[in-house]
Amino acid sequence: MVQTAEIVSEGQPAAAPVRTDTARKLRPEMVGPDTPEEPFPIYLSGKVAKGFGRGGKELGCPTANLEESSLVQIESKTRRTGVYYGYARVAQAAEGDNDVLPMVMSVGYNPYYKNEKLTAEIHVMHEFKSDFYGYEMRAVILGYIRPEYDYVSRDALIEDIDTDKQVALRSLSRSKYEEFKTDKHFFESDSEHPNGDGEVGGVRL
Ligand code: ADP
Ligand code: MG
Repeated sequence: MVQTAEIVSEGQPAAAPVRTDTARKLRPEMVGPDTPEEPFPIYLSGKVAKGFGRGGKELGCPTANLEESSLVQIESKTRRTGVYYGYARVAQAAEGDNDVLPMVMSVGYNPYYKNEKLTAEIHVMHEFKSDFYGYEMRAVILGYIRPEYDYVSRDALIEDIDTDKQVALRSLSRSKYEEFKTDKHFFESDSEHPNGDGEVGGVRL
């Protein structure tokens, strides 16, 4: 169950305010404008790296960790940490697992685990038949959901992640977002990735 009182322990980074029950209940159902606006879309592609193995086991929400080199490239488009949403595809995955699928993405320092390193992780909203470490993943980030918060209760974190998924699905159901499912970024085989500003080459992870 969600704890009713949550207290920030000493020494927590100021950038990660504590998440209260009240704040969680007031979350909007949909986020962002009806058409993606700057800095979105942000195109990503690169290999899935090994993390600490916590996402899947502890939270029931596996997250494909992006290679460290990708962080600089995300930062060239946005410096905001928090939870984002968009689409992702693992083209090399088996049939049934290789579609363009909705995703939520966390960019930040994971204050719950007191990580010191910046991380970027994508949870694809799909039940995969097997892991895809080392596979190439392509993604497009289309919007921002919320900043990172600090949690003393893991249940509270899980509840917020659940809400993130619902907010992402509702937000992506708008036509100007849905059309990115057929974006050529997901289907081309070479290194041409338009990145919204005429830049060729795009973001490589
Ligand atoms: P790690 O800390 O190594 O990232 P996780 O527990 O977060 O471990 O699991 C992530 C891995 O699980 C991914 O790299 C991928 O191979 C696999 N995986 C299976 N299903 C999913 C999914 N729906 N979304 C993201 N990754 C998934
Ligand atoms: Mg992970």
